[in-house]
Amino acid sequence: MSTRYDVRDGIAVITLDNPPVNGLGFATRRGIADGLEKAQADGSVKAIVLTGSGKAFSGGADITEFGSPKATAEPNLLTLIELIEASSKPVVAAINGVCMGGGLELALGCHYRVAAPGVPVALPEVKIGLIPGAGGTQRLPRVLGVEAALNMIVSGEPVQSDQLAALQGQKLFDRMSDGDLLLTALGFAAEIAAQRPLPLVRELPVSHPNADGYFQFVRNGIAAKARNFPAPAKCIESVANALKLPFDEGMKRELAIFIGLMMTPESKALRHAFFAERAASKIPDVPSDTPLREVRKIAVIGAGTMGGGIAMNFLNAGLPVVMLEAKQEALDRGVATIRRNYEAQLRKGKLKQDRLDQRMALLSTTLNYGDLSDADMLIEAVFEDIEVKRQVFQALDEVAKPGAILASNTSTLDLNRIASFTKRPQDVIGTHFFSPANVMKLLEVVRGKNTADDVLATVMAIGKKIRKTCVVSGVCDGFIGNRMIEQYIRQAGFLLEEGCTPQQVDRAIEQFGFAMGPFRMSDLAGNDIGWYIRKRRYQEQPELRYSRTADLLCEMGRFGQKTGAGWYDYQPGRRDALPSKLVDEMIEGHRTEIGIAPRKIADDEIVHRLVFALVNEGARLLDEGIALRASDIDMVYLTGYGFPLYRGGPMHYADGYGLYRVVKAMQRFAANPHDDAAFWTPAPLLARLAAEGKTFS
Ligand code: NAD
Repeated sequence: MSTRYDVRDGIAVITLDNPPVNGLGFATRRGIADGLEKAQADGSVKAIVLTGSGKAFSGGADITEFGSPKATAEPNLLTLIELIEASSKPVVAAINGVCMGGGLELALGCHYRVAAPGVPVALPEVKIGLIPGAGGTQRLPRVLGVEAALNMIVSGEPVQSDQLAALQGQKLFDRMSDGDLLLTALGFAAEIAAQRPLPLVRELPVSHPNADGYFQFVRNGIAAKARNFPAPAKCIESVANALKLPFDEGMKRELAIFIGLMMTPESKALRHAFFAERAASKIPDVPSDTPLREVRKIAVIGAGTMGGGIAMNFLNAGLPVVMLEAKQEALDRGVATIRRNYEAQLRKGKLKQDRLDQRMALLSTTLNYGDLSDADMLIEAVFEDIEVKRQVFQALDEVAKPGAILASNTSTLDLNRIASFTKRPQDVIGTHFFSPANVMKLLEVVRGKNTADDVLATVMAIGKKIRKTCVVSGVCDGFIGNRMIEQYIRQAGFLLEEGCTPQQVDRAIEQFGFAMGPFRMSDLAGNDIGWYIRKRRYQEQPELRYSRTADLLCEMGRFGQKTGAGWYDYQPGRRDALPSKLVDEMIEGHRTEIGIAPRKIADDEIVHRLVFALVNEGARLLDEGIALRASDIDMVYLTGYGFPLYRGGPMHYADGYGLYRVVKAMQRFAANPHDDAAFWTPAPLLARLAAEGKTFS
């Protein structure tokens, strides 16, 4: 049963009971409708209270029904609100907790609303590329005023109920409860039971003293942010309709806009990302009720670029961290960097002094492995050198308490080998953070061949606690993200040889929506890192083709922003990438040397060679079982590599483009004598899906 019905002192109480957030799924909607009918028929009932069980009134649509016929089956939400409005007895929404999306629209359809303080209230549809579709844009301005309502609708952000109750002239809440909400609501219902006519939000007036000017102002304000997202502008349009049009006409337009947005690729991409994030936290062969290990204290080994950022994540979450280094100077430098980062946040007003002090007080340092013996999770972030990792993991094995989790932040080394340095490979796992580790959302959680299920489940939970998007990866060179990016960068190199400039490649992919093209990205990360990796890689696989231009660049000492020169020139203290004549000459010289006559390459070819390189390597990762699902790969690229959110990630993009067409494009690329034909052989999974007319999802 997803609703309950009972009658107390002549008041019918309908309680939504569909955990975790009382989503308005089919059974819940049906339950509410049945409850309303029962209450009408019962002569002893004077009024009706609608409330939620647990921590929510209602979080809105039931996401497990998304896309299924149940989601729109009657009574749908609009019908349900109609039934409430038509009720001969007053219906009071008793808003006990989370009130969002369809949940708020349902409450707005009730005759009265009583709320508990501290309840988050929101219309978050814009975040999945939609507008509210059950009257939210028409009713909320009528109770909150145009400006407060539009702020909520355009941002999708929650506002606390007491903050809304304090707004002058608001009609959202008829009463706030300061004790037992249900008792307050029952008392209120008894008071108003006889009042007629019943008030309806749809009948309230709505206006703004300078509507045209105000809406134009908001439109300008969101223009940059909403460039690639149609929904925010549609929110404004629909709220403006509430002022211009009769209520029923405004409702009709709202629904039409909602349905139109449902079909847009941007909303599809946002909804895909929404579900992908949830899916990524589930591991098919690890039950969700696996008991977790307790993690109360963290140790970080290595206080360099990554170690410092990793430590900050845990300090921010209120967990004590001890950092170990080989030398005191390195420790001091590491602590100073963390402090500097926090002080920068303080100056920007993002952190208060007392919070800063609290976080720094949670941090301790040591040169002695013995001091790590009480840590529950020990994360190594020392030099990327297998011998150094061996020393560190042997030392950790000596001192760590039984059951402690031993994690490595390695980006390229074999995690199974690292685990074998210890006598407890079941406790070893990879936690691959991205730089800057305190900022980037992505955490690749690397599951070794011996990693215990509860270690994996615990690290996924800890990752969530430090607000990362965790994606599980198997062990391979580069894991999911870097293994794919290597193919993307290889294509970028070929494009230079065949006739592009770095700025042409960057511009094309940035226009596609990437935050940064491959050459600007390499300049930021440091071109020497790739150089180092290539030396190793091509020693092991001399037959692998790649463009030598990146090596020639490093031989010129152009390591990127840190040396003031890379693929681009940089002026001191500035980050603007300026085209470099020297680099152009280097590329031209290299072309002559290998005998390629440059050709003009269209942006479309640039974009698809780069993106389909990701797709093909991604499909191989799925074939090999390194990645669990295509949507995990999308999450890696959306949260770690600047792939445009409104395109939903490489695999989702390929699905939308059509896998058959993707394979056809790959066949064209393979026929190019300067490219790597072997690479463009479609991965078995991709070939099969394309042949069967299917998609990754
Ligand atoms: P870094 O050189 O900035 O820091 C490494 C730190 O480890 C130094 O402070 C060094 O003094 C310390 N160290 C070295 N040997 C030690 C030992 N035996 N005991 C204790 N401390 C020791 O390097 P980084 O960029 O922070 O990288 C650390 C790890 O993270 C590497 O495995 C790297 O591959 C990985 N990683 C780096 C990035 C990145 O973008 N920099 C991203 C993901 C993963």
